[in-house]
Amino acid sequence: MKTGLRIGTAQGRAGEITYGTFEGVQMPTGSSDDLPVIIAQGKREGPVLWVTASIHGNEYTGISAIHRLITPALVSDLRGAVIAIPTLNPAGLRVGERRAYYLKNQDPNRLFPAGSKKVPSLVGLPSDPEPISALENVYKHLFEKMVETADYLIDLHNYSLNSLPFSFRDPIGYADEHDKATARQLQTVMDGVLKAFGHTIINEYATADYLKRNLHRSVSGSVLNMARIPAFTVELGGYLSVDPAIVAACCAGIRNVMRFGGMLEGPMEPITDINILTPSYPIRRIQHPYAPQSGIMSHFVKSGDPVKRGEAIGRLTDIWGRPIGVNDGLIKTEHDGYVLGVSQGAAFYQGESLLSLAIRDDTDLLVPF
Ligand SMILES: [Zn+2]
Repeated sequence: MKTGLRIGTAQGRAGEITYGTFEGVQMPTGSSDDLPVIIAQGKREGPVLWVTASIHGNEYTGISAIHRLITPALVSDLRGAVIAIPTLNPAGLRVGERRAYYLKNQDPNRLFPAGSKKVPSLVGLPSDPEPISALENVYKHLFEKMVETADYLIDLHNYSLNSLPFSFRDPIGYADEHDKATARQLQTVMDGVLKAFGHTIINEYATADYLKRNLHRSVSGSVLNMARIPAFTVELGGYLSVDPAIVAACCAGIRNVMRFGGMLEGPMEPITDINILTPSYPIRRIQHPYAPQSGIMSHFVKSGDPVKRGEAIGRLTDIWGRPIGVNDGLIKTEHDGYVLGVSQGAAFYQGESLLSLAIRDDTDLLVPF
């Protein structure tokens, strides 16, 4: 373990839980919007696991998981240290919104660095340099501490109401054939980490969409792809709410990752509190189907349900309850798969997605960036 762990004002001490803050966005009105930091350090040397949460300010389950995870009992068994940031977006958390109010137009989870000392920037066409936003600057400094100290990182999120909890398996980019072998090794480690976490594993977009959607600049995408440190995102059911069963399953999963990394002893804990999909093939997420017209949607399915191509997943009606469109308003899926989550709400506009599905995915998640 890197001795003398210090993140912001929090100073790690063997066998203790210590608290502090990391300097956040400077306010025009004075003071700064600091990030809370917890360091739980075991008495014995070992790896460092970062656990971060609530970069989307209306996602609370990760905060509860961190509070429940870090206890004196954990510290007494621990080899190495856990560094936890209960919220990466205090401004969003205060007002229950996904984004920070001082950065309304940007998803905070797309602001982590796209380059590092270990891996050069993704090179595009030359362009005029743009100023870095205040929050992006905070994340840049935090990322440097992660690169310096982390052996693993888990970033906790929420997906949609009653959705299946799951972890994302991100693509790993490589520069050339020599680099591909290194990337493959990292992928093998990631497979072990995700298996240890024990939730449903969903492949992220392994296409140009990953870069187009700036997913390489999410917390875990950046740490994994830019710093080459094992990292993943977890989705913990619906936002604006906390399901205690999901919190328990998340904590068990995190402890299992610690066991995988040699930070805790003993057998893996079974994850029993949540529904877990274990198909014999890899699966990825897809938003499907979309509303063919605006209307009121009644879903026939719920998260975890298997669906078959051609199956009706709901009915679209007008506000008077009369079916819209062909097939008596029935909306059918064109894919075999499982329902990850039902899109929240009842009123949908044309072109809005109605379901999040997990479908078979045979693509290689090693991609040339
Ligand atoms: Zn999120």
